[in-house]
Amino acid sequence: MNTCGNEKVYDLVIRDGTVIDVVNECLIQANIGIEGEKIGAITKETIQGTHYIDAKGLMISPGFIDFHSHVDGKAYAAECLVRQGGTTTLGGERNLNGKIIKEIAEEGFIINHGFFVSQPFVLRDAAGVKSTYASASDKEIGVMAELAGKFMEFGACGICFPLELIPGVSQKEFIEISKVARAYNKIVTIHIRKDGSEALDTFDEIFEMAIETGVKVHLLELMYMVGMAGTMPKALELIDQARKSGIDITGDSGVYDAFTVCIGTGVFDDGWERSYGGRSYESLIVSSGIHMGERCNEKLFKELREKSPSTLITAFVGDHDAVAMALKKDYIYVSTNAADGPFYPTCGSPEVAGTFPRLIGRYVRQERELSLMEAIKKITILPARRFNLQHIGSIEVGKNADIVIFHYDTIIDRAGYVNQGSPDALPIGIHYVLVNGSVVVEKGAVVGDRKRGKFVTASDEV
Ligand SMILES: [Zn+2]
Repeated sequence: MNTCGNEKVYDLVIRDGTVIDVVNECLIQANIGIEGEKIGAITKETIQGTHYIDAKGLMISPGFIDFHSHVDGKAYAAECLVRQGGTTTLGGERNLNGKIIKEIAEEGFIINHGFFVSQPFVLRDAAGVKSTYASASDKEIGVMAELAGKFMEFGACGICFPLELIPGVSQKEFIEISKVARAYNKIVTIHIRKDGSEALDTFDEIFEMAIETGVKVHLLELMYMVGMAGTMPKALELIDQARKSGIDITGDSGVYDAFTVCIGTGVFDDGWERSYGGRSYESLIVSSGIHMGERCNEKLFKELREKSPSTLITAFVGDHDAVAMALKKDYIYVSTNAADGPFYPTCGSPEVAGTFPRLIGRYVRQERELSLMEAIKKITILPARRFNLQHIGSIEVGKNADIVIFHYDTIIDRAGYVNQGSPDALPIGIHYVLVNGSVVVEKGAVVGDRKRGKFVTASDEV
C-alpha cells in the first residue's frame, strides 16, 4: 500500500462486487481494498488501488476451506482445488509426512495447507504398533499421547481417527488419545468404523468417547459412509439425538453420490455388496490405471484386488437424495475428500475439481435445496470456527485476503466420472481466486509462482 496525497492506495481493489458477509449473513455491495496479504477495507466509498479487479455483477466470497481432502502436498490436486475456489486444504488422514509439511512451511504452496495428526499413520507408527489389527499396549498408548501433544502444540488442527482402517483400535486407545485433543481444545475427526448398512452400529463407540472426554467431534465423509442403503436418515437422527444430549458433534458430506477409493482397502472386503444394499460388481467403475473407465465384473475385480490394490474404484452405490438430506442440516459442512490414492490428471473422482461449484450451481441455484448463504457458510466460516482457523473464513478487515470471485448465474461444475468425462475438468463461472492477497486463478488459469499458500495452524484459543 502507498499513499497518494492524503488518499490511501491499496495494492489491489476489487470494485463493485457483491460481498457475501458470512458473519452478518447478508450481501453487501462494496469495494474491497487489499493491503499485502490482508483485507484492508470494505467500503461503499470509491478507493484507490495500484491494481483493480472489476467485479460488477459478481459475487465475492471468502475462499473455500476444504477441511478434509487427500491433497497432502500434491501440486496438481491443489491446482484443481484452487480452480474450483479452494484456498485452504487440511489433510493428514493418511499420508502427509513431515517432509511435505516442512517444504510447505518453508517454501509455500499453491494454497494454504494445514493438517490433522493421523492416529494410525503417525502416532501408531511412531509407537511401533505394526499391524492395523493389533491393539496397542498401555505403554504404546502413552507414547502416542505424548507425541500427539507435541503435534497439538505445533499447530495441528486435531487428531484424525480413520477407524475403518485400524480395526485394532481399542476404546481405551480411542479415549486416551482423544483426551489429548481435548486438553488443547482441538477436535477429533473420525472416519467411522463401518459404512453402508452396518454403519449405524458403530456410532455408539464415538458417542461414548465424546461423553467421557468432552472433546469436540467431527464425522468425516458422511455421504460416503452412510449415503447408501437408506442409512442417511437414521444416521442423521442419531447425530441429532447426540447433539440434543449435549455432545459437541458435527459432520461433513461430499456432493456426489458415488465415492472413489483404492480397491485394496477394507471397503471392498467380503460382504461389501450387502452393506451397500445388494449392489453388484457392475456398480463399480475402474478410475485409474490401464483399465480406467471400464465397468467391473467379478474377474476384473478380483484381479485388481490381488495384483493392483492401489487402483482407484468409483462405487456408484449412493442414494441421490441422501446428499440433499445431509446438506439441509446446519451442522453438516462440505468437504471434497479429493485426491485419495494415486492421483494424476484425468484419473479419480470429480470431487477434486467440481465439489464447490456443484454445491452452489446445482444444490443452491438449480435445485434450491439450500440457500446461497447456507452453502457458503458450510465451506467458509463454519469450518474456520470449528477447526480453530482464526485468520480465514470471512471477508472482514484484518482477515487474510483469501477470496473467490464468481458469477452466481453461471457457476457450475463440469468435472465428470472417468466413464462420463474428465474428473479434473475446469468449472464454469469462477473468475478469480486470491490466496493471501495474490491472484492465483484468473479466468480459470493458475497464474503466478504457485507459492502464495502458507502452512496454516489451528489456534487453541476458543
Ligand atoms: Zn477421506
